[in-house]
Amino acid sequence: MAIATEKNIYDRQYLQKLREEITAFVDANVKPNVKINDVDGFFPRESINALGKAGWNSILFDESLKGLDLGYTGFVIVTEEIAKADASTGLVYAMHIAASEKIYIYGTEDQKKRWLLPVRDEGKITTFAISEKATGGHVWYNLSRAIQDGDEYILNFEKSFTTSGGEADFYVAQTGTANTTEPSAQSYFIVAGQQEGIIAKPWKALGVRGNQSGPLVFKNIRVHKRDLLDATPEDIYQNSAAIIGLNAVWLGVAQAALDAAIDHVKKTENKGFHNSLADHQILRVKLAEVAIRIKSSRAWLLDIARHLDELKEAGKPLTEATHEINELKVQVTELADFAARTAMDVAGGYGYHVSIFEKLYRDARGGIPMAPSNNIALDQIGKGLVGLPIELWEKGK
Ligand SMILES: Cc1cc2nc3c(=O)[nH]c(=O)nc-3n(C[C@H](O)[C@H](O)[C@H](O)COP(=O)(O)OP(=O)(O)OC[C@H]3O[C@@H](n4cnc5c(N)ncnc54)[C@H](O)[C@@H]3O)c2cc1C
Repeated sequence: MAIATEKNIYDRQYLQKLREEITAFVDANVKPNVKINDVDGFFPRESINALGKAGWNSILFDESLKGLDLGYTGFVIVTEEIAKADASTGLVYAMHIAASEKIYIYGTEDQKKRWLLPVRDEGKITTFAISEKATGGHVWYNLSRAIQDGDEYILNFEKSFTTSGGEADFYVAQTGTANTTEPSAQSYFIVAGQQEGIIAKPWKALGVRGNQSGPLVFKNIRVHKRDLLDATPEDIYQNSAAIIGLNAVWLGVAQAALDAAIDHVKKTENKGFHNSLADHQILRVKLAEVAIRIKSSRAWLLDIARHLDELKEAGKPLTEATHEINELKVQVTELADFAARTAMDVAGGYGYHVSIFEKLYRDARGGIPMAPSNNIALDQIGKGLVGLPIELWEKGK
């Protein structure tokens, strides 16, 4: 089925126009803040506010929520271009879009109005609070559990990582479903961010230093039942929007590394030999390998994003695409790492300085452990290939 609208996601010119629009926006509103966010570990508040004001933070929503309605295809293009300027800002953006998408897809009309309209009207942002140390990268399975108290639920847990932790206006927080001990019974709650009892711990990491992905404590947080999302364990396990968003982030990092490397080899001259680094075939070949892998990954990313748009249009579950999104996640995060290493290689000793190359090298490592970690994804993909079952919840279940 083809989606034939003025927003034709199969038309290269349409996609290119969108890319140019967001690139100009990023150049003016995101790039100026990147250095300070990375060096000082500041949250990219100004950039995120600017994105919200211009409507990009409502990219998936339809007109009823004052959204841009650009679908998953628009989402991955915009995310890639933001992450090309800065992986931290790209991650904050991707997590916001993916967490708000949960409310958009599974929320009631009341939930959508109360939580999603303020994204456009007031610049509010959200994120996922999911991972817990007890189950590590098996993020679809929390051991913490909500307790029901009349019309309210009480949440008590510590999330091991939460991008935009302490900065988000509201969270899509996951925990075990109340009133059952079934491991697969997990729930999403929408929780107001700025309240006593939600405590963000510091984020000190190798890279993506501006995105505040540290631990997040919820202490006796009460949530009314009207803010419980109606998502199934399968929806929670297969988090399509979050993972395709991550894929776009790491593609942007790979492209940034290639761009910086090309720029460096072209302008770095050897005055003794009267040539530039670009005159060395070995360096050109290395750059060509990165370029080819980026182009093929981008084609795959756009193909999956279009598939998500088609599934959404047809009212089918997006979970159909998750397996492929996980495969691409492994490919594109390893590519970001490869591209950053190659960029540092061709930039020589200057690549090793505190510089764009060193930043990209640190940032690029962030994608590999993010859920699904590449090891877990490879294990699950490999089991699928040989017809072995995946143990999702606990041994034997
Ligand atoms: C930059 C960043 C941002 C993040 N943002 C968020 C966020 O916004 N929200 C959120 O909820 N979480 C977030 N996370 C958490 C992330 O998604 C993972 O849940 C977390 O990194 C898992 O780390 P762990 O040390 O607990 O993993 P562990 O599970 O302890 O894994 C340690 C190692 O063992 C491997 N391993 C573990 N189990 C298996 C298995 N079954 N098969 C094969 N290998 C296995 C892993 O691949 C890894 O190499 C973020 C993490 C990072 C690094």
